[in-house]
Amino acid sequence: MHKKLFIPGPVDVREDVLQRMATPMIGHRTKEASTLQRSISDKMKQLMFTQSEILLSTSSGSGLMEGAVRSCTRKKAACFSVGAFGKKWYQMAVSNNVPADLFESEAGDPTTPEMVDRALATGDYDLVTVTHNETSTGVMNPVGEIAEVMKKYPEVIFCVDTVSSLAGVKIPVDEWGIDICITSSQKALGLPPGLAVASISQKAVEAAKQVEFRGSYFDLLSLYNTIQKRDYQYPSTPSISHMYALDYQLDLIFKEGLEARFARHLEMAEYVRDWGRQHFELFAREGYRSNTLTTVLNTRGISVADLNKALGERGFMISNGYGDYKEKTFRIAHMADTTMEDIKEVLGHIDDILGL
Ligand SMILES: *Cc1c(COP(=O)(O)O)cnc(C)c1O
Repeated sequence: MHKKLFIPGPVDVREDVLQRMATPMIGHRTKEASTLQRSISDKMKQLMFTQSEILLSTSSGSGLMEGAVRSCTRKKAACFSVGAFGKKWYQMAVSNNVPADLFESEAGDPTTPEMVDRALATGDYDLVTVTHNETSTGVMNPVGEIAEVMKKYPEVIFCVDTVSSLAGVKIPVDEWGIDICITSSQKALGLPPGLAVASISQKAVEAAKQVEFRGSYFDLLSLYNTIQKRDYQYPSTPSISHMYALDYQLDLIFKEGLEARFARHLEMAEYVRDWGRQHFELFAREGYRSNTLTTVLNTRGISVADLNKALGERGFMISNGYGDYKEKTFRIAHMADTTMEDIKEVLGHIDDILGL
């Protein structure tokens, strides 16, 4: 039996979107491939509110995160972390021999504009990484406010992880001055895992030109240069199946309407937060709670594993806490094509199982 997924990726994929993955193959060096990839680029620019070039990567989002910090750090990276995924970006820098410092917030707290200002005022850094929506803690960072601070440091490359929020929350890439904005297919975009997307500004391209060792597969400059030269074709064979599905899903997203889509995510978030507050507590600090997933503090000391097992028997699945937060928290995703009815249904089952 298929379990309906309320985990923060992979998410359930609409049947018609899944079907697009079964489109017969085309050659990746054909005009059709160029047309498909250009079409995705144009639509992603709209979704990201940017004029920047779009890069597609046949990998999960982590690939482009590694590529960004490696390709564009000339001096040193300042990595801001509010949880597991922020810390991973720092570790990617370290394992690539890229000089980096980690700036962590208390669990459940955001990265503040003051923290970023203080770090950048030292003049030590020329690249910043920030997590927009931290999937381990359910914190959504004030990237708009951080963006204001970034404007004081025009030489610094601003990289933002929007893996679990883009397409569920408005991310105005150009207005916020984001140089590299990264997302994955399997979260709020509502596709199977395996494709990553990033916007890349001219400033980031120029920075990459000053970096000698950018790696190979995730060398953002090589990806950028190749699509310019080869009419949107990539250096190696991409997942054409994902591209068919993404191109189609983007049409559905615009058909729903971006404002309506963002409003639907907020409405689901508010419903889950109300439920969480009523029966438990919310993990993320008030004012910084994610619109795409809610991390609930397990104040009742329930067995999350048992709850999920019981839910599984009814055809549903939520997420236990991430890493050290296992059993101490649990996470309910409300993203992509999930609806209010789905949310009411799964919360109803949880109420029933726990006798709430
Ligand atoms: C899922 C996730 C990642 C990792 O993305 P992959 O596509 O699994 O590589 C990074 N950052 C955040 C915030 C995520 O939710």
